[in-house]
Amino acid sequence: MTMKFNSHFNDINESYLFAEVAARTQTFRAANPESDIIKLGIGDVTLPLAPAVIAAMRSAVSEMSEKDTFRGYGPYEGYDFLRESIRGYYGSFGVKIAADEIFVSDGAKSDLGNILDIFSEGGTSLITDPVYPVYVDTNLMAGRKVIFADATEQNDFLPAPDYKVTADIIYICSPNNPTGAAYTLKGLQEWVDYANKTGAVILYDAAYESFISDGGLARSIFQIEGAETCAIEFCSFSKTAGFTGTRCGYTVIPKALEREGLNANKLWLRRQATKFNGVSYVVQRGAEAVFTAEGQKQIRENLAYYKRNARVIADGLDELGIKYTGGKNSPYIWLRCPDNAGSWQFFDLLLNGAQVVGTPGAGFGKNGEGYFRLTAFGSREDTVRAMQRIKKLL
Ligand code: PLP
Repeated sequence: MTMKFNSHFNDINESYLFAEVAARTQTFRAANPESDIIKLGIGDVTLPLAPAVIAAMRSAVSEMSEKDTFRGYGPYEGYDFLRESIRGYYGSFGVKIAADEIFVSDGAKSDLGNILDIFSEGGTSLITDPVYPVYVDTNLMAGRKVIFADATEQNDFLPAPDYKVTADIIYICSPNNPTGAAYTLKGLQEWVDYANKTGAVILYDAAYESFISDGGLARSIFQIEGAETCAIEFCSFSKTAGFTGTRCGYTVIPKALEREGLNANKLWLRRQATKFNGVSYVVQRGAEAVFTAEGQKQIRENLAYYKRNARVIADGLDELGIKYTGGKNSPYIWLRCPDNAGSWQFFDLLLNGAQVVGTPGAGFGKNGEGYFRLTAFGSREDTVRAMQRIKKLL
């Protein structure tokens, strides 16, 4: 019999967005070697790890260098010290979860893709559009059907459930990448009620939770009554504490989440035990330090720095009369391209006219056409200079 590869890979688009951004930037640079290009498109952080994290990791490295304190394989689901710290963190905003409902991982992206292992084959996933492209691609690779919930200006980029639509998995990303929109507790309650009524499971991506400062917005889906029977939450140290290169995240799966006699928490533990050997001890000690008083103070300073960048961008757009969302409870600013320009048309305009690189909204789904994403993760100096140039150009 001829071996066959997974033909569902034919269903996914080439990873076109960032490759095309890089190609157009490169072409411009080749034609204008003297140009000083500023990147406000990246979703990666730029500030270094907090000193408390570095100190904890250094000390963990020392432990690894001594026979008596060396550690080999750790628990698949993460060390107790870190799970306890995460549990305490949730407690700080009033959410009660048990340590054995928390699974430490090498980041939210892996878990968001891998979680499909515990779902039955051939289901339908409801995904908001525009959104972080990983949800769509992982579902298509797994041969699942994907349907979309439109996030548009009309619904403030926060679609509400439609009882005429059925899906067994629902993806919600809040604060959202790319729109920066974040659900209120009330808005999220509607989704939880819908999921509990229809039997669907919500995969809630809270990777940008720590950017929330407004009261009334959801930090965790487990703030919502009934979420423990219908939701899984994914979170990450990447944007919160600059771990994009260090790699650590966590997934919360309540023990109450069951369908037809199968328990999601147990399935995930079994899945991780089979396919994952845990996150390194050194990294988990670093992550633990994020939750100390000192660590929290330091990472909050970094978050405040990024949020001031977002303010600089927002103020510039206000002066130009350009409509946008996000930036306040999110590192992303999602703007409507002026003069009804298309996303790529606006990309070229900014690159050629201001030497500023952003991300065309069309790359995040059909509803992203005509929009553009700027990020607050650059340096202050670059952000200020980029906005001065954009103001001059427009
Ligand atoms: N979820 C969202 C919405 C993201 O934007 C990102 C990264 O950009 C991730 C998850 C991935 O996070 P991690 O670095 O923990 O894999």
